Amino acid sequence: SSSDAGGLLRDPARFAREVLEPIRAIVGERGVITDRDQMQPLMVAWRDGWKGRVPLVVQPANTAELAAVVAICHRTRTPIVPQGGNTGLTGASQPHGDDSEIVISTTRMNRIRALDLDNDTITVDAGCVLASIQDAAREAGRLFPLSLGAEGSCQIGGNLSTNAGGVQAVRYGTARNLVAGLEVVLPDGRVWDGLRGLRKDNAGYDLKQIFIGAEGTLGIITGATLKLLPLPEATATAFLATGSPAQAVAWLRRAKAALGETITSCELMERACVEIARKHNSQIQDPLEQAYPWYLLLELAGQGAAEALEARLLPVFEAGLEAEELLDGVIASSAAQAAALWRIREGAPEGQRLEGSSFKHDVSVPISQVDRFIAEANTALSQRFPGIRSFAFGHLGDGNIHFNPIQAEGEPADLWQARLPEVNRIVHDIVSQLGGSITAEHGVGRLRITELQHYKSPIELEMMARLKLCFDPLNLMNPQKVLRSDLLDNLSE
Ligand code: FAD
Repeated sequence: SSSDAGGLLRDPARFAREVLEPIRAIVGERGVITDRDQMQPLMVAWRDGWKGRVPLVVQPANTAELAAVVAICHRTRTPIVPQGGNTGLTGASQPHGDDSEIVISTTRMNRIRALDLDNDTITVDAGCVLASIQDAAREAGRLFPLSLGAEGSCQIGGNLSTNAGGVQAVRYGTARNLVAGLEVVLPDGRVWDGLRGLRKDNAGYDLKQIFIGAEGTLGIITGATLKLLPLPEATATAFLATGSPAQAVAWLRRAKAALGETITSCELMERACVEIARKHNSQIQDPLEQAYPWYLLLELAGQGAAEALEARLLPVFEAGLEAEELLDGVIASSAAQAAALWRIREGAPEGQRLEGSSFKHDVSVPISQVDRFIAEANTALSQRFPGIRSFAFGHLGDGNIHFNPIQAEGEPADLWQARLPEVNRIVHDIVSQLGGSITAEHGVGRLRITELQHYKSPIELEMMARLKLCFDPLNLMNPQKVLRSDLLDNLSE
């Protein structure tokens, strides 16, 4: 049962003898961190205050080392927190605070293993930083389209384990769609080599998909074969003002009909996001002369000349103005201008982080319900908590809204935190009524573990728990993340 796990960690002498020293013998001095100060950056979250404490961080150099380390953990019932770039937003990559686990980090596993240009695939170690894979693809004249704000530090193993979405999912799908094969170390230390670079493979269950989005609860991804696409020759970026999410959706429908596959991003932001991004970053400028209630950041990509893309966009933009779906807008005339427009979008989460503590909602609803979701959530929250501020932004093309109520200036932290369960319930009840999901791309981790249990049906929870127990019957892989251990204990009794 999960409750026996980690017992060894409470006995330092035995831990050193049976866990630490055998692991050190495998990975060498470079592969272990036991110094608390040195491991500190790996114990804390980028935001949200998750903090952990472990006696040991292991950084294996390759799959064989990692597998041998996991085998020791299995033998000694030592729980493991897999970690990539530690940029996750749900407290899933930080350990719990009680020295009850060890961290296994893929940071040193950062080789590009192979590139197959006829097959349009690249095979990489799980610890490759996302941006380095994008770069390697670009150098080979290909596109690896997964793209998100943290791409300079997140790792592909983390991206796959969270099934990251990002800003181009509207065209290319989430991380899951970009995987041809996986290599995984199972919780007992055996290696599953599923690095098949196939686009079609119906030989039984699609096992790789089970590990994608599992948040490190079923095994450790050590390698991946990823699909590459043609590198677009041209892009066009536009910043468009609109009166409401409903108008934005109406225009998006028009744009999809006219521009189809060329739309690679369609990001929605409310005015407050632009203001907060500017407040906390003096480099960010308002590209339009007037303030408008909502904005769309649109990106198109395709083959041929940039002028041709713009020429396709222009009439759709004008038709939007005429129909009053759009109020104003600007099309970037250079790469530098396009980057400046993207800085506004990227500055929105950073600005919110600096503005105060906020409750993060990462919901998805059918695109047709986005307007209703935002309106109903705002109304319900301000009725219950007069004066509450919320920020809505996100990936409109996927119906994925980040809806973040934020602490009022000067409000005591404990008072604010005490509201969290009620705020969550208000927002997620609306999401649930609209047929949505309580997490579109960030995942469950610790942040939504109680909420998941509340909103999933008993049959879904049971299937998830049985799957977990099938792969990890000792509950050693990232325990108390995604699924509560009591749910597993109930099933295994
Ligand atoms: P970590 O944070 O280290 O780990 C995340 C989870 O995966 C944990 O459960 C961990 O245990 C597990 N894990 C890590 N590596 C492995 C492995 N090799 N095998 C098994 N399990 C593993 N996310 C989006 O989806 N879309 C966005 O647009 C987006 N934007 C972001 C912007 C910013 C500024 C930041 C800070 C984060 C953003 N994120 C976004 C969230 C985050 O970047 C993603 O979740 C990312 O995929 C996590 O990768 P990582 O390597 O940092 O993983």
